[in-house]
Amino acid sequence: MTKCIMYHGISQKAFSGQVSISEFRRQIQGLQKVGHFVGLDEFMGRSQEILSVPRFLLTFDDGYFNNASLVSPVLEELGVPAIFFISTAHCESGGYLWFSHLEALRRHYSGPDLKIGSENFSFSAKNKSESIKSIEYLLVKAANHTETLKSILKTLPKLESYVPVDELEENFRGMTAKQIHTLSESPLFEIGAHTVNHLFLSKAEASEIKSEISGSKEYLERVTGKSVRCLAYPSGDYSEQVLRFAERQFEYSFSVYRGLGVNPQHEIQRFGVYNKSMSSLLFKIFLGSTLRKFGKVIG
Ligand SMILES: [Zn+2]
Repeated sequence: MTKCIMYHGISQKAFSGQVSISEFRRQIQGLQKVGHFVGLDEFMGRSQEILSVPRFLLTFDDGYFNNASLVSPVLEELGVPAIFFISTAHCESGGYLWFSHLEALRRHYSGPDLKIGSENFSFSAKNKSESIKSIEYLLVKAANHTETLKSILKTLPKLESYVPVDELEENFRGMTAKQIHTLSESPLFEIGAHTVNHLFLSKAEASEIKSEISGSKEYLERVTGKSVRCLAYPSGDYSEQVLRFAERQFEYSFSVYRGLGVNPQHEIQRFGVYNKSMSSLLFKIFLGSTLRKFGKVIG
């Protein structure tokens, strides 16, 4: 049995939909008791070694700073291989992914009101949650086109102006180029692409799909000096057209729930971990395929 597991950002203190670093450590140690963590080649069956125990491939999406600062030392200590899929727009100073802006507004912004285009969004205690929902709608709608998305993000306040510095690093920042390079040097870790701006690729134009995929691959190859051979579709969202672009540039591509049944090497399914419960994690691993039909999570 092989299972591919997906995490996102992991911090000291878990917010809703996350696990903390201590909970993460417990989950990995728990899984080591029932199976064996392997790297990409062994997972895909290239290794000659035949194991009777379940094999797990661990992946992290988005490329948060905390994956390098908190997660990688735990994985090194426990000898666990992993792939880090990185959206490159937040690797440069001051850049944040569009849903990090939303999360930052949710957790830390309390005014003044915001103006996007001709629309005004009130951040009074009474209106804040409604305003964030409306901004989320605008961002989700724009997240199939780089320029539209960027122009909305430009009108939002800079995170540095309202999020505490330690919070920025722990929960919102992307990995620096130096961190990516360091991770790529470890024999345990592999760097994978996750586009530049985390667009919904199935809804993007062909030119956008190409530039989002190639842009992140080229950036990561420049930073690591190594070939980037795998991709994770942002939010697990892809179409046959997207898959064809991926096939030309990568050996493997990872989705989340669904498979189109076009090319299994480019539709490797994963399940996400969003809470600390060990029993629900084991349940997902051993009975997971029936659960994958439900829901879709951004990230
Ligand atoms: Zn993602």
